[in-house]
Amino acid sequence: MIRFDTLDLDQMTAAVLAGAELPRPVAGAILDCPDERLPDLLAATLRVREAAFGRQVKICILRNAQSGICPEDCHYCSQSRVSKADIPVYKLQSIAELVEGAREAAETGAQRYCMVCSMRGPAARDIDHLGEACERIRSELPELELCLSLGLMDRAQAETLKEAGAGWINHNLNTSRRFYPRICTTHTWDDRVATIENVRAAGLSTCSGGIIGMGETDDDLIDLAYATRRLGIDSVPINFLHPIKGTPLESAQRLTPERCLKAACLFRLLNPKSEVRAAGGRELNLGARQPALFNAVNSIFVNGYLTTPGLGYAATREMIERAGFEVVEARS
Ligand code: SF4
Repeated sequence: MIRFDTLDLDQMTAAVLAGAELPRPVAGAILDCPDERLPDLLAATLRVREAAFGRQVKICILRNAQSGICPEDCHYCSQSRVSKADIPVYKLQSIAELVEGAREAAETGAQRYCMVCSMRGPAARDIDHLGEACERIRSELPELELCLSLGLMDRAQAETLKEAGAGWINHNLNTSRRFYPRICTTHTWDDRVATIENVRAAGLSTCSGGIIGMGETDDDLIDLAYATRRLGIDSVPINFLHPIKGTPLESAQRLTPERCLKAACLFRLLNPKSEVRAAGGRELNLGARQPALFNAVNSIFVNGYLTTPGLGYAATREMIERAGFEVVEARS
């Protein structure tokens, strides 16, 4: 174990910028950074973030395209079969509703629109339906980045969605391979990796990150961060667990803002050229410390997270600009 105080941060960022993989003991030292040294870690991480993304922040909007009654048992999820959370339940939305959601996202100022479905994986009719929605959105809003999150997917399904105009598929690894059976028993971490590989083989960009705060150890979090690097993930969302009443993780220990920020730095330093994104739970877990996230992340979700509310576009934009960063302007 290396102590954070012994790290040469200039040397560390230079090595990362030169393409070197952060040694694992250094990753451990980052998570172990004393809180009073966090400003130094954030400043070092900012140099890496700026090298690839300047001071720009991309805005993303999610749409819960099918809600609830999922057959899977992901313990963090309000839509799982083991959740007793009081949430809206509905089948896959109509194409008109999904297109309207895309219009609203673009008008709001989002660069990326992600349609998310509570399901183990899509059936053929779901792929047909969502493919048609993608084609309609693509023809009407050609500049809006289109992402889908549909659970486990094979290569042919991913290819169909790519042909229909999707650019990204989200499928989060969520945590380490070792810890995965503690948060889900209905599919495996390896199943998730297979989906990511199918998505990449289809020529789509990959979006996959995790959730911190589910009871994982530092080693689990480090394993996850290395997995995102080694799989060459293009876009890495970091969720900060928002324990939802009625889910098995409703009593999970709350994260501190410092823990969230150290984790964000770790993901950025291991993924210097990938999008790193602040996702669910940022409001609850970071509160007034959210602006510090922009030292690490270059992308953020607004207007809520499927079944939990979140900060809106205007307030998030104001926060970004006050922190000295700039929103990537929507092009459509
Ligand atoms: S597969 Fe997705 S929607 Fe279903 S329980 Fe897991 S996280 Fe929730």
